[in-house]
Amino acid sequence: MIIVMKTGATEAEIQHVIERVERLGLKTMVSKGIERTIVGVIGDESLLLGQPIEACPGVDKVMPVMAPYKLVSREFKPESTVIRVKDVEIGGDKIVVMAGPCSIESLERLREIARAVKGAGAVILRGGAFKPRTSPYSFQGLGEEGLKYLKQIGEELGLITISEVMETRQVELVSKYVDILQIGARNMQNFNLLREVGKIRKPVMLKRGLSATIKEWLMSAEYILKEGNFEVILCERGIRTFEQYTRNTLDISAVPAVKQLSHLPIVVDPSHGTGKRDLVKAVSMAAIAAGADGLMIEVHTKPEEALSDGAQSLTPDMFEDLMSSVKRIAQAVGRTM
Ligand code: PEP
Ligand code: MN
Repeated sequence: MIIVMKTGATEAEIQHVIERVERLGLKTMVSKGIERTIVGVIGDESLLLGQPIEACPGVDKVMPVMAPYKLVSREFKPESTVIRVKDVEIGGDKIVVMAGPCSIESLERLREIARAVKGAGAVILRGGAFKPRTSPYSFQGLGEEGLKYLKQIGEELGLITISEVMETRQVELVSKYVDILQIGARNMQNFNLLREVGKIRKPVMLKRGLSATIKEWLMSAEYILKEGNFEVILCERGIRTFEQYTRNTLDISAVPAVKQLSHLPIVVDPSHGTGKRDLVKAVSMAAIAAGADGLMIEVHTKPEEALSDGAQSLTPDMFEDLMSSVKRIAQAVGRTM
């Protein structure tokens, strides 16, 4: 951390800052320029977290040199994290595809969709039971009944399941039925929810917030790891920009950036990332080429009848075509599928 003193800061003010820092067991290195004095802090910077050094008289600004997240960083754990759920590994050499409807609508429809995605090579079945809808008048999901269907179909077809948990009171219920808990984009900074899923022993997929920076996203993951749950999968699902042609702007660069900064696996959701089914295949290929560990794709046997996100849902035929194209990209970048 570098503490920049104001022009004209007095010797007493500089000494006060030095004493404050050294009292915590850290060392300082003082550089006195003609205009300004800079105090460099040497040692474990995290000791300074929560210390309002900016508020000390004579301090202009405080600049951290270390990333504010620790447990999620590659510095903390250089080897990539591989999460095992039954016989599936997320973050290993093999690309993992999660697919299914946006919302679970009925047992029969879920079974039909699940059969189709499994047939094409998906190993994880997705489906929302608690839906974060923009309008309170839109379909809100089947709740616990939907989770029961998801569990039943997952067991019937040998698929791992993932579903969203929207609030702290639902964590116990959702983890009773599903293998992986999803934190949606709108809840990326619901810190109480993050702490709650940090206490359970099930993998959590954390979607990037609608307007979250990569740093904020990794800080949110840090909340989960800090509670003891190291099984976190990150999911890039597009961010809000000025562009309106696509539903969101999918940040492909987040994939290699996260790979550099963190040891956690990262998957990409091109369905919410684009909002348009015709764009999903190309963006999926790009995601795998960029180094993503997997994909989350919305598929529906009758997209025109879907109760949510029909426009971005692929038909089973389109999904099959996507899978064979993505497979070729995976092989080209030294991954299997
Ligand atoms: C979803 O995957 O069902 C979903 C609601 O996505 P997001 O949180 O990314 O909008
Ligand atoms: Mn959706």
